[in-house]
Amino acid sequence: RAKKEGKGIYRFFESIMDAAARERHQLALDLRAAIGTAQFELHYQPQFEVASGRASGFEALLRWTHPAHGPISPAQFIPLAEETGLILPLGEWVLREACREAAAWALPLGIAVNLSIAQLEQPDLCGTVRSVLEETGLTPDRLELEVTESLFLKGSARSQEMLRDLKALGVRISMDDFGTGYSSLATLQAFPFDKIKIDRSFVGQIGVTSKGGAIVRAIISLGESLDIPVIAEGIETEEQLAFLRQHRCAEIQGYLCGKPQPIAAYRGLVVHVKDLRVA
Ligand code: C2E
Ligand code: MG
Ligand code: MG
Ligand code: MG
Repeated sequence: RAKKEGKGIYRFFESIMDAAARERHQLALDLRAAIGTAQFELHYQPQFEVASGRASGFEALLRWTHPAHGPISPAQFIPLAEETGLILPLGEWVLREACREAAAWALPLGIAVNLSIAQLEQPDLCGTVRSVLEETGLTPDRLELEVTESLFLKGSARSQEMLRDLKALGVRISMDDFGTGYSSLATLQAFPFDKIKIDRSFVGQIGVTSKGGAIVRAIISLGESLDIPVIAEGIETEEQLAFLRQHRCAEIQGYLCGKPQPIAAYRGLVVHVKDLRVA
């Protein structure tokens, strides 16, 4: 009897898993069909220099509006795009679109674009970046490419070499989500990053407990020692801002100073502001 029951439970879970797998498969098909359509859009989140209050640049963040399900989070569709290889055409679209947009801005602000490992494993990535810069007329020093340390965990020597080639083009390379991985410090030693982005999980701890800001403070001083500017992600409160200012964090990015929005939201806006807000 127990055996029979067990089988029933197994079937039950199997059918749930089937449903989840089918849903995922369907989403992957929808993602493929969405490439090249208006279902994708970039949103832009401003970054600010803490000392001057001036906007220093924007991070481009990909958005997908599914025709039936509405907006789908990047946390859900980016991994799917990575598994299916769709991140290659999608990532190239993001790069071209972000550079084209930034090249048209009145102010020479920076534009940060997230890169997946699969893109860095493409032997022609450097050629793609170079031709996108030429096509759009964006100067290389305005483009910043964000990578995470998973790149170094996989130990792909070729993608590290690719990073060096990209840097040689004159674009800047940032380390995203710093401190969340297994070997963040080793990664800093392995590659001369131009910027460190403190993950928002650490920023969120500021003021929560008595030691809540300790890791943020340590990362800022690490950046100082290595001569790498540090930007804090996910600033949501005045208290966090005051803490980061006190500890001389170079730059900030977060809902407090501006959420990711379509570029139209910034049109006609003076981005040289003193109170660290664009809107
Ligand atoms: P990320 O690169 O670390 O981007 C920062 C994420 O934090 C964004 O989430 C942004 O909307 C969110 N964020 C910014 N400020 C705040 C804040 O104050 N509070 C909170 N709670 N969140 C904040 P988003 O847009 O959902 O993107 C999630 C991740 O998806 C990104 O993390 C990045 O890893 C990936 N992603 C997004 N666009 C692209 C893309 O074009 N290519 C690739 N490869 N990955 C992308
Ligand atoms: Mg990023
Ligand atoms: Mg991040
Ligand atoms: Mg992230």
